[in-house]
Amino acid sequence: MKYCENCHIVTDFPRCPACGAKVFREVREEDFCLLLERTASDCAVLKEIFEEENIPCVAMPSGNGFRSSLGLRLENEKLFVPYAQLEQAKELVRTLAARETERLRGQILQHADALHMAPRLARKLAKKWKAEDVLNVCKEKIASARRIEDGGRRLDGPGSGHFLFCYADGATLCVDSESLEILSVTFS
Ligand SMILES: [Zn+2]
Repeated sequence: MKYCENCHIVTDFPRCPACGAKVFREVREEDFCLLLERTASDCAVLKEIFEEENIPCVAMPSGNGFRSSLGLRLENEKLFVPYAQLEQAKELVRTLAARETERLRGQILQHADALHMAPRLARKLAKKWKAEDVLNVCKEKIASARRIEDGGRRLDGPGSGHFLFCYADGATLCVDSESLEILSVTFS
């Protein structure tokens, strides 16, 4: 495996997938490699877990001009771990994501009867899915979603709900964790 010293990315290819530079150098066990990019609060949680697992970890703020220009405080961070522990760290992240998905799925489906959406969205979905009971289709999508993520607290409306993103086959649903309103459905 090769290592791009600019991007801290490991690759099989002769060019770095991120910056396009030619990479010749073989990766060393101690090279810090990019693991992921997440919000600073997500990274804080991961850093603590890695510490418990004795995985050295370095966090760097990720420049994101768009977010900064909107004055959002939720800056992203990039996390790096040594190549020797990269696979272990990835596995840990996968396990945590799977656990989080099941927790959030339970949280939504426990109150599945309270799921609702604006009439406009319902009409759009009825057309797209050619279904009458679009809420039921949404429930099925949430029940079978391969990943559910907390996208952070809503700042645009009343209450203190979080955006829950449900990645299902053919569609991604965004649900308010508090009101259980289905806010949007994007098709993939
Ligand atoms: Zn690079």
